This record gives sequence, C-alpha cells and structure tokens, in this order.
Amino acid sequence: MHTMSNWSGSVRYTPSQIFSPSSEDELVKIVRNCIDLKKKIRIIGSGHSFTRLCETDQVLISLDHYKGIVSVNKEAREITVKAGTKIYEFGDLSHQLGLAQENLGDIDRQSMAGSISTGTHGTGIGFGNISTQVTAIRFVNGKGEVVNCSETDNHDIFKATQISLGSFGIILELTFRLTESYKLEFTSGKENLFDVLGRYDEINKTTRNFEFYWFPHTETVQTKYSNVSEKEAKDNKLGLWFDNVMENHLFNAVSFPTRYIPSLSSSVAKLSAALSGTSSKVNWSHKVYALPRTVLFNEMEYNVPYEAFADVKKEVVRVFKDRKFDVHFPTENRFVKGDDIWLSPAYQRQSAYIAFHVYKGNPHQHYFKVMEDICRSYDGRPHWGKMHTLQAADFQKIYPKWEDFQAVRKTQDPEGIFLSDYLREVLVS
Ligand SMILES: Cc1cc2nc3c(=O)[nH]c(=O)nc-3n(C[C@H](O)[C@H](O)[C@H](O)COP(=O)(O)OP(=O)(O)OC[C@H]3O[C@@H](n4cnc5c(N)ncnc54)[C@H](O)[C@@H]3O)c2cc1C
Repeated sequence: MHTMSNWSGSVRYTPSQIFSPSSEDELVKIVRNCIDLKKKIRIIGSGHSFTRLCETDQVLISLDHYKGIVSVNKEAREITVKAGTKIYEFGDLSHQLGLAQENLGDIDRQSMAGSISTGTHGTGIGFGNISTQVTAIRFVNGKGEVVNCSETDNHDIFKATQISLGSFGIILELTFRLTESYKLEFTSGKENLFDVLGRYDEINKTTRNFEFYWFPHTETVQTKYSNVSEKEAKDNKLGLWFDNVMENHLFNAVSFPTRYIPSLSSSVAKLSAALSGTSSKVNWSHKVYALPRTVLFNEMEYNVPYEAFADVKKEVVRVFKDRKFDVHFPTENRFVKGDDIWLSPAYQRQSAYIAFHVYKGNPHQHYFKVMEDICRSYDGRPHWGKMHTLQAADFQKIYPKWEDFQAVRKTQDPEGIFLSDYLREVLVS
C-alpha cells in the first residue's frame, strides 16, 4: 500500500488501491466494479488542494495516464481535452493551435479536471474562474453511466458539475472555450498598501490582470499588472532564473529560521518588502501567468464581495497589527468576475479573493481562524481547495443553489460511491 500526500504535506492517507487507467473504457469498468463491490472512490488530479479532498482509505483513481486533446473546433475556438491533462500541457497544445485560455491562476501544475473542480481562479475583474471557461463536461457517474452535459444539454447537471469536488463521478473530458493566442506585458513594482486600497477599482478598470501581495508588518505591497501587448515575446531565461532565486530560494532561506524563532517573522517580512523590486516581461500568456512555487506553505483563501474588499483588507491589517501574528508570508489579493456556477465562491457577485499563507511547519490554525472570522463577517466564501473550517450546514446558508446542487448530486451518485468522510463533512448537511 502506498501513502499519498498533498502538495504541502498537510494531508496524508493510504488508499487500499490506486488505479491510473489510460482509456475511458477502463475508467468506466473500474467505476462499475467498485459499485458492484460497494467500494468508495476518490479521484486525484495533481494533489495540490490543501484540504482533504482526495483523502481515502479505499479506491483512488488518478487520470495521469489519461491526457491529450480529443477534438478541436477552430471556428468556435473550442478544444475538448482529456481530464487528466495538466494545465501547462494544455497551454502548449493550445498555443500550437493558435489558441489560449483567457485567464489562469499562478501555477500551471494542476490537472484540468482538478483545477475546475475546486473553482481555481486567477486575477482580472473581467474574467471568471477557470470553470467559467468550460462549455461541456463528460463524466462517468456513481451509477456507472457516462453523462454529457453543457450550456445547452442537461443544463442543471452542467451548472452543478462545473465546481463539484469530484462528488458526482469522474470527469473524463472537458470542452474549453478559448481565445486567440495573445501576449501579455507584465510589470511588477512596490507601492503603498493604503494608496492601492483607495484605487483598486480604478486600477482594475485599466488593467487586464491586476493583483498585489501585502507584506505583513509593513505598509508595502508588491503590485503586479498584466496587459495585452503586441511587443516581441521573449523567453528571458536569466530573468526567470533571477525571479526564481528571489521568490523561492532566497525566500526559503530567510523563512527557515522562523520555524525555530517565530519572533523573527516581522524582520523577515520587512526584509522581503525591502528586497522586492521592479520587474517586467513580455511573453505568450500561458508563460506569463504561471510562476514556479517551490517554497512549501499552507494556505486559506476567501472570496469576499468586490465592493467590500478595502474594508475587509483594512480590518485584516488592523487585527494583524493588534495581535502581532508571527507570520511573514505575504497575503495575495486578486479580483474575479462574478458567475452563475452553483457552488462557485464568485456565484452572482463580482469578487475579491484574499489568500493567507503560512510557511510549512509554522502554526497556521489560530491565524487562519482569526482571518477567517473577519472574511466570514463580510459574507466571505472559502476557496474549496484551500483550508477553512466550514461544514455543510454553513455552506447551505451561503450558497443559494445548495439544494439544487444536492438534488443533482443525489441523481448522479445515489449510493454515495464518491462521498468520502471529508466530502460528507462539507457536502452532506
Ligand atoms: C502552489 C499552489 C498554487 C496554487 N495556486 C492557485 C491559484 O493561483 N488559484 C487558485 O484558485 N488555486 C490555486 N491553488 C489551488 C489549486 O488550484 C486547487 O486546489 C486545484 O483544485 C488543484 O488541482 P489538482 O489537479 O491538484 O486537483 P486535486 O487537488 O488533486 O483535486 C481537487 C479536487 O478535484 C477532484 N478531481 C480531480 N480530478 C478529477 C476528475 N477527473 N473528475 C472529478 N473530480 C476530479 C478531486 O477529487 C478533488 O475533489 C494552488 C495550489 C498550490 C499548491
């Protein structure tokens, strides 16, 4: 038996069986066998989620051998892809066809199905999370049936499946609506937190993808702006190497002592703020969004209403100052367009996301709880793939389409083949 771990190492579990099939027939057969034997199934993408979403002591299915493009509709700018394909692989494949995803998060190691199943998002108030780019889904449900759903067919199943934590079945294929390939000019600089909080809406109106990191214990933020550009794309290997050294290796080196002397956190945060400089690059979009992330951390991220963002952030900063948390990792602040996906944190509202990170090995529970309470008091909704303390009864109150989601879940997986202990905690009230 093989012990599995998520990216940060915060979740460890030992499935009794692990399957990595390479065809749809095999995948469907495994599901039907499990139904006959009354075995529970969990599905893993890249295992990047911080919560216990992939945990099981029964059957774990990986789609790492189920990858690649299924079909292309160039006129509609749509590509159907096998669900185990990784985001970076999809980026290269689509670029070869002159197409690109309209927006992405800040790493590209996730699987396509895993990323949409938790509502993974990037930044840019004009763009929804990655699940909004999906126009059709094919999956095998808890009855062993293959189901197709889309904006036009089986619409309710589609709206529920777009973000569903693998609770209806195994997603086999996803159709993405893409745009023509485009280049982004990225610039980053150092600014004052309160100045940025006073102007974030104005900045979002003139910037395609805007985000910023706040260095705790300071009033400094690192801002990041990206806009479409016609300039020449450059694979600046030296620049990438330098960014990697600064953002990963050097940051890891200064972070490590905080594990033993937590009170160093404030000095480390101030040093990081002082060292953060300016940088710029122009490249094809899929090469601009993603960054290497080698410093391990744990993370909680909350979606809050866009209009409330400055108030939430000011409270976060005030409480952080009062409580003097021994945390040095910057908080990340992003903006996402509202959508109509039933369990999307951005459901029916323009949104801001605030992400709280803690260096792996340092205590995060108390800090996250205090920050969670602040976000919750502003109608916050947690990211499904990141740490939080909410349970099904809480979600029932914050998602207007909760009951509709449950109705679809029960029709697709009546025996709860895809429900693990953790999924019961967050989905079954
Ligand atoms: C370093 C790092 C950076 C990150 N950056 C961002 C970011 O910029 N923006 C953001 O929003 N999030 C971010 N995340 C969170 C991450 O994108 C999500 O947790 C995402 O769901 C992980 O994708 P995965 O392929 O690893 O899925 P997993 O974590 O393996 O699985 C996630 C869920 O998807 C289900 N699933 C996987 N494959 C299938 C399938 N074929 N069919 C049905 N269900 C399936 C699983 O059962 C599980 O419920 C980051 C995480 C890390 C570790």
